[in-house]
Amino acid sequence: MFPVEQIRADFPILQRQVNGKSLVYFDNAATSQTPQIVIDAIVDYYSNYNANIHRGVHALSQEATDKYEQARITLQKHFNARHAYEMIFTSGTTHSINMVASGFSELLNEGDEIIVSALEHHSNIVPWQMLAERTGAKLKVIPMNQEGALIMDVYDELLSKKTKLVFCNHISNALGTINPIEEIIEKAHKVGAAVLVDGAQSVPHMSVDFQALDVDFYVASAHKVCGPTGMGFLYGKQEWLEKLPPYQGGGEMIETVTFEKTTYAGLPHKFEAGTPNICGGIAFGIAIDYVNSIGLDKIAAYEQELLDYGTEKLQEIEGLRIYGTAHKTSVISFNVEGIHPYDIGSILDKLGVAVRTGHHCAQPIMDFYQIPGTIRASFAFYNTKEEIDVFIEGLKKAIMMLS
Ligand SMILES: *Cc1c(COP(=O)(O)O)cnc(C)c1O
Repeated sequence: MFPVEQIRADFPILQRQVNGKSLVYFDNAATSQTPQIVIDAIVDYYSNYNANIHRGVHALSQEATDKYEQARITLQKHFNARHAYEMIFTSGTTHSINMVASGFSELLNEGDEIIVSALEHHSNIVPWQMLAERTGAKLKVIPMNQEGALIMDVYDELLSKKTKLVFCNHISNALGTINPIEEIIEKAHKVGAAVLVDGAQSVPHMSVDFQALDVDFYVASAHKVCGPTGMGFLYGKQEWLEKLPPYQGGGEMIETVTFEKTTYAGLPHKFEAGTPNICGGIAFGIAIDYVNSIGLDKIAAYEQELLDYGTEKLQEIEGLRIYGTAHKTSVISFNVEGIHPYDIGSILDKLGVAVRTGHHCAQPIMDFYQIPGTIRASFAFYNTKEEIDVFIEGLKKAIMMLS
């Protein structure tokens, strides 16, 4: 048995009421909730050893530096990166993607090609469009099918010696589809292209091994895996990070910063100009430790149970369509015939149930299905079947009121 009641006690927010009802939080794909141990780490930092890192000889600065660098090692071990300095701390997935897209401006030429998947979040589309505009490279798209899976035969056709970069998310935030990134990476490497994987949705739900994947770049956000907002990472293979120019502050300044330090090589500091989110980095490490204390395999198995249960209950409702039925994680995106998603979302909110409605920052997917948006319920390991029952009851009530 998965100890969900014990786990729920770790999350103070799950005790609160919304509109007089117990909160049912099913918006986990937008952001996850924060366990007490992570909240405590944030309070501890500001209460006891708040100081700027890497610069001071005094005790607080040393302590903050040690904890921050320890968090980097926690991440390195968790994701099996070869070196800790391949883990660059950033403000989140969006920031990480932009760092790579910006760096590739100097590595691409007119006539080069970059490939992106149809299942992307806007943050993994727009930076590449901007990159294509800057460099004259051509942007191509791996299309999707009705099940919400990528059409891999077309990917094979898109790949050529001209392909320099491929971008794909590991798991789609809008549909929950788990993409075949092993195959995507292997095939890209055969033509000499690098691959960036957006792991914002995979990191909370499965264990990921960077060396086993042989991925070139992998990015994610702390706030989707029980950590704080404004924190994330860019993983890059050492040879790629060395090839990419610095992102912020201009090369000169970053070189000087690197020059001052004797204990660190160029990486990771080349990409970490300015005072970083010290507390956020430390709390990110604690969040990863917390998730590991439960076990990602156990989390994945339990979330699968929630997904199966929720899917079955939703399928019993007449006129309801679920989008994305391919191999996926605990995200259910759906619509009810004749009713606008927003109206259902508003009524559910009155009943204390938090779901997301809209295009989920993935308009091309909505265009594909020719809908303005969906209602998305996304489950985490601290959710329960009882909560799904409350959600289904509320949904039925909403449908009755609106039809
Ligand atoms: C949330 C999300 C992002 C953006 O993450 P930020 O933390 O907002 O930068 C990008 N891609 C996917 C798949 C996401 O789920």
